[in-house]
This record gives sequence, structure tokens and C-alpha cells, in this order.
Amino acid sequence: MDSLIALDIGGTKIGWGIVEISVHSNLRISECGSIPTLAQRGGADVAQRICALVSELVSQYPHSQGVAIASAGVVDPRTGVIVSATNTMPGWGSTELADLISKNVHLTVRVLNDVHAHGLGEARLGAGRDHNSTLSIAVGTGIGGALVNNGNVYYGSHFLAGHVGHIHHHFAQGQQCSCGRSGHIEAICSGSGITTWYNARLEEEHNYDASWEGPVANGRELQERADAGAPLAKKCFVESGFALGEAIASLANSLDPAIIVLSGSMTRSGQLWWDAVRGGYDGCAMDGVANTPVVHGDLGDDAPLLGAALNFLRR
Ligand SMILES: [Zn+2]
Repeated sequence: MDSLIALDIGGTKIGWGIVEISVHSNLRISECGSIPTLAQRGGADVAQRICALVSELVSQYPHSQGVAIASAGVVDPRTGVIVSATNTMPGWGSTELADLISKNVHLTVRVLNDVHAHGLGEARLGAGRDHNSTLSIAVGTGIGGALVNNGNVYYGSHFLAGHVGHIHHHFAQGQQCSCGRSGHIEAICSGSGITTWYNARLEEEHNYDASWEGPVANGRELQERADAGAPLAKKCFVESGFALGEAIASLANSLDPAIIVLSGSMTRSGQLWWDAVRGGYDGCAMDGVANTPVVHGDLGDDAPLLGAALNFLRR
């Protein structure tokens, strides 16, 4: 059986998996693990440890045919170069990732942006597998997406396509976004964004009940507060989900995918959030896309690894 070494390089951890390819071209992850990214040490240090990890995996799995990578940052999939990256991965931009690794292990290395890989995985092997076009949106620490049409990711002219988090919404007015602009949905709909938004509103809206509400450290804490019935926490979740639903409907109105697949930590926020997303979608979607399914992803953390493997195999 053929196999590939697959990596998913994120700001917090670097996941790896051995993807086995059966005679019918079915993909299966047989072994997996992760190491911390330690992004603050800088791009060169991260790249060096990735090379060491791949060397170790090649010696453990000597029959691997290649290295398939999903990476944070804007990626040129033709060259495997990281075009640019945000401050969550300082110095990661301009890393010639595919060349660095292939020189080290003498295997073909192919790189795709992690959100594009995630979308490709869900579209071909996950929730979108029975549809010819999938809009995949990951709502986690940040928000990213991918439009996959007939099995092909739309990259855009600058490989930037899918930056769904940087759509404007009036609820986000005045909120600073990770990209440096303000008013983008990532600032209120991502896990980190909703946390900052809630804490800021606690300061602004002094009429909250301090026995219910108080600053939170992350989206999970905020959700626990909302589930317990804290009014401002619930209001934040509902408004955040509603804004996201309206943004998704705007994308559906303009792109008309056959299915919309949501994944990431915020999608585990419970029914309150999902109902709010649905409410925002229903109010904003045009008649033709009103019944487009909006569903939860099937593949979880496997999606970017499988997507990276599909990207490797298709060329
Ligand atoms: Zn932004």
C-alpha cells in the first residue's frame, strides 16, 4: 500500500499523519501525532524543527512516497513557498518550505494553505462529497474558508481567496481585526474575537449583573456563562452567530455553492449559536439559495491532512 506523510502546520501545533492510499484511491490516516509549533521562536526555527520532524517520520515510515503539507499563511501551491503570514507566525512568510524539506529528505513535497486543504478534504471526502461545489468555512481562533468547485480549490489571483473572516459587518464596527482593519466579522465571530468583544462590552454596558457576568479568558468560558443564562454572554453569542449567518448568506448569494460546511471550535458552541447562524442566514439569503444546506463538517482535525494528501495526489 502507498502512503504519504501529511503535516498540518498551525500557529499552536504541528499535526502529522501517515495517510495510506488503497488500490481504490481511498485515503485513511493510520498513525498521527503532533508537536508544538513554538511560533514565537520565529519562522526559521519552526522550519528547522519541521525538517527534523519529517526526517524522523521518513526513517520511521521509509515507504512513504512524499510529503503533503497544509500550512498556515498565504501559500503559493505551485512552488510551496509561504507568500506571507500574520503575526501569529512571525517570520513564517517567505519560507521556501517545499524546497527546504525536499532537499533534506529527497522526496516530493507539496504545500497548500491549511484552510484550503481543510476545504478540499471536506469537499471531496467529508460533508461535501455528494455535491459538486462546497463552501467550507472554519470558525475557530480565526475565520477562513475555501470554495471548492468540481474538486478544485479557488485560490484567487494572490492565493488569498477564502479570507471569509475579513468581510465587513456593522456589528463589528470599531472592533479591531487581526488584519489591522476594523469592522471585519473575525473581530466578533471567531473564538478570540467574541471573547474580546464580550469583555469590551462588559466595560461599555455597565448595567450587567456582576454575579452572572465578568471578564472571560476564551470562547469556552464565555459559552459556559451563556449556557448558565448570563444575559450579556447569551446576547454576544446570538449577535455573533447572527452576523456570521448574514455573512455566509452574502457569500451564498454571490457564489451559490451546493452546500456550506462549517467547522472549527465555534461550531461546538451549542444550539443557541447554530440557531443564531441559521437566523442570520435565513433573513439575508436570496430565494434561490434559501434551502442550501448549512451543515457541520465530518472530518474534524483530519480534514487538512486529507486535503493536503488530495492536493499531493492530484498533480
Ligand atoms: Zn480583518
